[in-house]
Amino acid sequence: MKKPIGLVMLPGCRCRCGHEWFPREKEKPRVCPKCKSANWDRPKKFEKK
Ligand SMILES: [Zn+2]
Repeated sequence: MKKPIGLVMLPGCRCRCGHEWFPREKEKPRVCPKCKSANWDRPKKFEKK
């Protein structure tokens, strides 16, 4: 199967910390590579201090 060239929709990830990256793995990354948050794809409910 040939993939189109040019503009493509890359399956990028955006963490709630604002960091964006393109994971090479097919599976969703467990943690954000920047802030190491395990719930990077979920909005913060509250901040624990
Ligand atoms: Zn992050």
